Amino acid sequence: MKKIILLLVLVIFLNGCLTQQEQAISNAPVNKTNSSQNHDLNASSNQTPPKTDSVTASPVTTNPITKIKDVLQSCPTKEEILQFESDFSITFDDAPKLYSCENGKNPNYNGETSTGETGKVLDPRLTIYQTLRIARAMNFSKPFPWTEKDLYGWLKDNIIGIHVSNSTQYSFCCSPSRVINLKSEVVGAWYQTDWINKQAGTGIEGLVTLIMHEARHTTHGHTCGSNDKTIDEMGAWAVQYNLLYWMANYLPSDFQSEYEQESIAAQAENIKKTRFCG
Ligand SMILES: [Zn+2]
Repeated sequence: MKKIILLLVLVIFLNGCLTQQEQAISNAPVNKTNSSQNHDLNASSNQTPPKTDSVTASPVTTNPITKIKDVLQSCPTKEEILQFESDFSITFDDAPKLYSCENGKNPNYNGETSTGETGKVLDPRLTIYQTLRIARAMNFSKPFPWTEKDLYGWLKDNIIGIHVSNSTQYSFCCSPSRVINLKSEVVGAWYQTDWINKQAGTGIEGLVTLIMHEARHTTHGHTCGSNDKTIDEMGAWAVQYNLLYWMANYLPSDFQSEYEQESIAAQAENIKKTRFCG
């Protein structure tokens, strides 16, 4: 029921005809997560998550996007937003400012601020939408080693929510169950409008891979401290490593720049070298 109300508010909101009362509802603080257990990189996940209740929603018409810039410099459609909000519970400690999107940015945020500034310069809600659009848009030429599904379908099967938190020291999973918690400073960071920002050395590709890492914790905890024993056990680090490797090697050649491709390949190699104890 709550979800239906939220969706209705969103529809009204997107049509640009918010009354003051409705705006108050849409800006109402969302439930804070009582995250007494910080699983982050020590996620213990002996619990097998319940089988996914597939939310039946009509599939989004996939745009023929072949380049990452086409995603990042455009805005999610109303249909995409409704789909994302239907597939995932997307919540925030701080209610985001009024939603708007022009060329991939919410002008109600000062997203053009200088490079050193951290957090809250971009709309975290739009950043989450963009990560989900990217997860759908990446058209890999080879199946992943940990699932036969596409990235978005796998994510949807594993998590039910994404919470953007002001208080957590690290992004983590799974409190509540099958909800991943992301640091607001990371989600709202200035470099999230780029696939990889040269000055930051990261960009929204880092957030996409972080989300998939945390989503893997719904079924796999770390097996060697905050690292994993082997790639073969296909835990969270292996998913992150493989996803980076796939992004570097199995996307259309014009999807990203050469710099971005090489940077992602280097990230994959670094994880391979540093995150496996076995
Ligand atoms: Zn982890």
